[in-house]
This record gives sequence, C-alpha cells and structure tokens, in this order.
Amino acid sequence: AEAPLPLTGIVMLYLLTAVSFLLCAGVLIHDGQWVMGHAPENWAENLNLIAAIIGITGIGAMSLALNQWRVAGNHQRAAMTDALTGLLNRRALFDTYGGEPVRTHTAAIAFDLDSFKSVNDRHGHAAGDAVLKAFADVLRDVCGAGACVARLGGEEFIVVLDRTVPDRAQHIAERVRMDFAAKLIPIGGRSITCTVSAGIALGGEDCVNFDSLLSNADKALYISKRNGRNRVSLAA
Ligand code: GH3
Ligand code: MG
Ligand code: MG
Repeated sequence: AEAPLPLTGIVMLYLLTAVSFLLCAGVLIHDGQWVMGHAPENWAENLNLIAAIIGITGIGAMSLALNQWRVAGNHQRAAMTDALTGLLNRRALFDTYGGEPVRTHTAAIAFDLDSFKSVNDRHGHAAGDAVLKAFADVLRDVCGAGACVARLGGEEFIVVLDRTVPDRAQHIAERVRMDFAAKLIPIGGRSITCTVSAGIALGGEDCVNFDSLLSNADKALYISKRNGRNRVSLAA
C-alpha cells in the first residue's frame, strides 16, 4: 500500500526472470534433450541471459531504492510528529503555515492546560504525561481530520482551522474545553481531572501573517487565564 508502483516494478522483474527460465526448460523439453553433455545453446538460453542480467540488477537497484525511500519517509514523519502525543509538532505547524499569508477564514485556537505544574508536582511526571495524552485524544476527537492540530511544546497546543467561521471556532474550542474538563484520566488506580483555557484569533485585514495570528490567540488565552481559567476567549 505504501509504494504500489516500485513494488509492481519489482514483481514484473521477478516474473521476467522466472519466465525466461521457464522458456529454457520448455525448449529442452520440446527438443527431448534429457541428457546433456554440455551447456545448452539456443534462443531461450540467450534470452535468459539478457533477462537474468536485467532482472537481477533491476531487482537489486529497485529494492535498495525502495528501502531508502521508506527510511526517508519514516524519518520525515518522525521529524514532524510529537513523540508523546502523536500530534503534529511545532516544526510541522510552521512548515505548513509559517511562510504563508493568513487567509480571512483561518482561525487559530491556542490551548494551555490549567495549573499543569501542580499535576506534575502532586502526581508525578508520568501522570502529567498521561494528562497530555488524554488532552491530545480530546483534540483529535473534537477537531477531526480537517483541522491542523499541533503540540507547540510543554502543555501548549494549537488548532488551526482553514475556511471556518468564528462561531465554529468558538464551538470547537468550547467542546474541547468541556470534554476535557469532564474526562476522568486514570492514574495508578484512581482518576484525576484537569481543565484547559483557550484563546481564539481570526485571520483578517489586521492579521495577515501566522506569527501575529498566534500572538493574538495567545493574548486571548491570557485573558482566559486572568479571568479564572477553564474558559474560552476571543481575541479583540
Ligand atoms: P497555568 O494555569 O498558568 O498555565 O499554569 P501551569 O502550571 O499550567 O503553567 P506553567 O507554565 O507554570 O507549568 C507548565 C508545566 O508543564 C511545567 C513543566 O514541568 C510541565 N511540562 C512541560 N512539558 C512537559 C511534559 O512533556 N510532560 C510533563 N509531565 N510535564 C511537562
Ligand atoms: Mg504554558
Ligand atoms: Mg498551563
């Protein structure tokens, strides 16, 4: 499924080589040559020589190329993925949006878990990691495949929605906030809960690049924190 074309090529080369050997056998059977004093010489043997050279060198080259290509693909995916949560990482987010002007119907939602340091302090770092994974699951469930969901670092996450309207961005941020607050996160035999604050920024005339979109979302997030956490704010 990863590489149908190169694999079809390799199968064809194997087939070519196999058929050329079958032809050699066919010619010997046809001529009734059951006993041979020396190597047979006929058109099928000549064809076999050419097919085997093309087939075996081709298979070697294509197998190597296929392997290299898969290794490169795996490295590329790993470089774009946050190892803990499996979401996109900061690099992937900026590769996708960094250099481009922000369109009018783009929205960014910044999330920051509330009092997360105290989760680590009270329950340990492993529990903190479990909370981060649980939050990533909520983001995946709520945002779906159409959104770009990334972990910026620590307990900070960004969701970018293309072609959206303010109401939808607000609805998604509220759903994430409510679902996460209601989520029981199992930790060593018991469950804990955590909350998240969010800030929403929209692309527009006064916000044309990605950095300012993120900075506006961050300012809105700060308002949520200042007003008591576990809430969503929209950038002015
Ligand atoms: P606030 O509500 O104001 O956001 O407070 P906070 O405690 O969430 O914010 P603060 O920035 O003080 O703490 C963030 C903590 O996140 C500190 C750091 O130890 C922790 N952290 C960062 N990355 C990871 C991680 O990958 N795993 C775990 N378990 N903790 C992390
Ligand atoms: Mg933070
Ligand atoms: Mg925090």
